[in-house]
Amino acid sequence: MIVSTLTFSAPVNAVRYIGAWPVLIDAEPAYWQMDVERLAYFLDKECQYNGAELRNKITGRRVKAIVPVHILGHPVDMDPLMDLARKYGLVVVEDATESLGAKYKGKLSGSLGDIACFSFNGNKVITTGGGGMVVTDNETWARRAKYLTTQAKDDPLEYIHGDIGYNYRLTNIQAAMGCAQMEQLDQYIADKRRISEIYSCALSSIPGISVRGSADWAYSIEWMHTILVDPVGYGMDSRELLRKLGEAKVQTRPLWQPIHLSPVYRSCQVVGGDVAERLNRMALSLPSSVGLTEEQQQHVIRLLELLRRV
Ligand SMILES: *Cc1c(COP(=O)(O)O)cnc(C)c1O
Repeated sequence: MIVSTLTFSAPVNAVRYIGAWPVLIDAEPAYWQMDVERLAYFLDKECQYNGAELRNKITGRRVKAIVPVHILGHPVDMDPLMDLARKYGLVVVEDATESLGAKYKGKLSGSLGDIACFSFNGNKVITTGGGGMVVTDNETWARRAKYLTTQAKDDPLEYIHGDIGYNYRLTNIQAAMGCAQMEQLDQYIADKRRISEIYSCALSSIPGISVRGSADWAYSIEWMHTILVDPVGYGMDSRELLRKLGEAKVQTRPLWQPIHLSPVYRSCQVVGGDVAERLNRMALSLPSSVGLTEEQQQHVIRLLELLRRV
């Protein structure tokens, strides 16, 4: 299965849970999402297609699915990705966790591929404390997912199991919490976008700091506002800035270590990787909670202006 290398580890772990192996695709530099040109290179040049199945020339393994992860609230460029998937008969599983409510050319993320997943973990736009959601318009898959997540029960009364099930259900109480929050999603997204807009305006004038753009085909929910710190222009690198901000009681976070560098996945095949590595070195995620006040945000901005050491 083909996955973005610049992502939180969860979708890659899911690939391994089912015994498949990930092939990791680098990020593109403009919006930091899965680089569809590199994906095309891998599929066209490094795989062999016989009209029925696609095989990875290096490992000999069958290639079955693409898992685009829409990171930080911004969608992946899905049209060319879907064209490739159709060309080679691949299933597309979107990880739309960080982009609930985001749109690609007017269509909601999570509705663009064949099946999609969302997480409602504590740090997401909508949270039920834990758990998540799978969405698809394939009724057979939907039934199958429900069956597996609820211990694979074959009979409403007797304890008969036709498969190995899981306790992966969202409890009714959690689902109720989630539904109630869904009613406020538009407001949350408006808050996220406002916070991001204020950061973008204020920080773009600080030499050494750059902000991620948003594609003209994208409606990004700006889940997290992440900046890039150029050590030459700013006078310190992202990690030193993280420490300095920490001393001033402002918590910031690095972006994930690219999966191809992580100790557990280092042996996995990667297509490119240098862009994700550079983003990981330079990126710093700023406080972006919907509860962030205007004053708190101005404080963060002032610190970023003051700490520059050039
Ligand atoms: C947070 C996150 C997940 C994790 O979800 P869990 O609910 O912890 O399993 C999955 N994918 C992405 C992209 C995430 O950011």
